[in-house]
Amino acid sequence: MSVAAMPKDVSRPDSGNNKTLVEINGLRRVFDLSKPWLNRLIEGGGKVTLTAVDGVDFAIREGETYALVGESGSGKSTIAKMTVGLLRPSAGSVTIGGTDVWGSKDAEGMRAMRRQIQMIFQDPFASLNPRWRVRAIIEEPIKAFDLISDAKDRGERVGELLSLVGLDPRDGQKFPHEFSGGQRQRIAIARALASNPRFIVCDEPTSALDVSVQAQVLNLLRDLQERLGLTYLFISHNLAVVRHVATRVGVLYLGRLVEEAPARELFASPQHPYTKMLLEAVPDIEMGGSERQSIAGEIPNPVNPPPGCHFHPRCPQAMDHCSRDIPPVYHVGAANVRCHLFGDAKRSAR
Ligand code: SF4
Repeated sequence: MSVAAMPKDVSRPDSGNNKTLVEINGLRRVFDLSKPWLNRLIEGGGKVTLTAVDGVDFAIREGETYALVGESGSGKSTIAKMTVGLLRPSAGSVTIGGTDVWGSKDAEGMRAMRRQIQMIFQDPFASLNPRWRVRAIIEEPIKAFDLISDAKDRGERVGELLSLVGLDPRDGQKFPHEFSGGQRQRIAIARALASNPRFIVCDEPTSALDVSVQAQVLNLLRDLQERLGLTYLFISHNLAVVRHVATRVGVLYLGRLVEEAPARELFASPQHPYTKMLLEAVPDIEMGGSERQSIAGEIPNPVNPPPGCHFHPRCPQAMDHCSRDIPPVYHVGAANVRCHLFGDAKRSAR
């Protein structure tokens, strides 16, 4: 069954777990796009910077799937890379299981934490070494973290992991090119599970796959979460996919979190004008997956974002001060919303 053909009421309830595993505070990333100093001196022109992530705060509780959604250029993948330790933030912090990913001086604690974090990428073929057999690919993290020293036991563990993701243990002898796209993503998931992680960042894990196999991979991720107690940060531009997997959703626009809510509330009652616009563009399931309405306007150039609320040039409800003042975050029901429309609501501490 494809994602588009899934029943409409697939939103997942809040996990109910109150124990926070991941905390992101004031996360910011600025890229310097300037020409080299000598070129600027000869040709003129100043420094050019791009703020990809601009003061993002959120927390992920154990066992939940927190989805970050937004159009291309919203900062989703930059946040994912800073969360797993691949890209240093310009400011702010990422704490996982009590350990500061970027600030801890405790080498032993850092090694233990790194074992507990894994990432699944968009393109399974690019993320698997084409010259290695599947067994070598999956056992690499087991060796890197010294989890099983005996080669025979490691082979058995690889077979178990292949079975866990719905493949045959004998598939370990094959190379990645001998598999379909969906099977390759299963191998990438088995590799991610090899170090017994608690937290997995899934960066658009189904967007490179045929629509027909997307639902199978999403169902596998949900099943593994329930069996192994995993926590996910799920990055996607596709709200139909997010609706199927997420327990909480954060909506990003030009590097700022504009709405955050439990998935059921967000899909039933979106608050921010941008979230409403994104939901209007989700394929209409009853109409056989046809587009309902495209998102109005283009995402502005992030090098020179609109002042005040970044969304004001596209917002049908924009007011005078929206182009001047950055909106604070307000509590609206179960949601946190960054929008001047809710000026009478209680402001969030975030
Ligand atoms: Fe629209 Fe103003 Fe709200 Fe921004 S702050 S989303 S421009 S109403």
